[in-house]
Amino acid sequence: MTPNIPRIPLSDGSSIPQLGFGTWQISPADAEAAVRAALDAGYRHIDTAQLYGNEAEVGKAIRASGVPREEIYLTTKLANSRHAPAEVRAATEESLAALDCGWIDLYLVHWPLPMHGDVAEVWDAMVGVRDGERVRGIGVSNFQPAHLDRLDEAGLPRPLVNQVEVNPFFANEAVRERNRAAGIATQAWSPLGQGKAATDPVLAAIAAETGKSFAQVVLRWTLQRGDIVFPKSTTPARIRENLDVFDFSLTHEQMRRIDALDRGERSGPDPDVFDWLG
Ligand code: NAD
Repeated sequence: MTPNIPRIPLSDGSSIPQLGFGTWQISPADAEAAVRAALDAGYRHIDTAQLYGNEAEVGKAIRASGVPREEIYLTTKLANSRHAPAEVRAATEESLAALDCGWIDLYLVHWPLPMHGDVAEVWDAMVGVRDGERVRGIGVSNFQPAHLDRLDEAGLPRPLVNQVEVNPFFANEAVRERNRAAGIATQAWSPLGQGKAATDPVLAAIAAETGKSFAQVVLRWTLQRGDIVFPKSTTPARIRENLDVFDFSLTHEQMRRIDALDRGERSGPDPDVFDWLG
């Protein structure tokens, strides 16, 4: 049975399925089957990026799935080496062609790269490619509060979302709060801490209490905090497991125990210093 996935309203009046499927580190050889397994399981939101090198396979899976395109929410991201305004236009065309799915629902600046230029300049170019048809919504990823402040200072429209690392070991409260204050939805990347959650005893205890897996417990915590999330897996049983999180909820006390795991420990790079022009 296809689960009824809640939708989160965005500031432009559109909405996005709160749970989706992530495709980072899924090789082109595996991506079509993985995305197809996700769509067959009932996922209707797919997160990819030009840097992941799998846009063509993601698009192929969507087209072959038989699921009407309007039912699928598709996100991709601008590659780090393409921030110059003319490059933003060219990269957008490349992603649209590779995906070959008619349109992009959400197009994100993947990393702020403040050491390579003004974040307002790349964001202005993103505003320029959003046409409401082929590029329907735009947002950012890995933006720190200062980067969001810069967009406000420049008088530019606010991003619909800010996709940042959030998991029990890195709750990222300052950025979540800055997003919330500006009406920007938070998308939580690496929700399972890239595997770290598997060995945590508190999560194991709550998994035993709820009769769910550690992954389901963490995803439930993320959803109950109101964030948008897209776990990644290439294993069909795990793909289904990660979607099976709408038949239970964590108590206030269980939520607090998971909140207490925050130790400010990132799994991925610090966006203020991440300097990779991939
Ligand atoms: P994740 O936290 O979802 O963890 C993925 C790892 O957990 C994989 O090794 C997977 O095999 C394992 N896993 C998944 N489901 C499991 C289950 N049910 N039981 C046991 N193990 C399980 O990590 P992620 O892929 O880093 O993040 C999710 C998505 O977020 C990515 O695929 C990508 O779409 C996005 N992302 C974005 C950025 C960014 O810079 N914007 C960075 C990282 C990730």
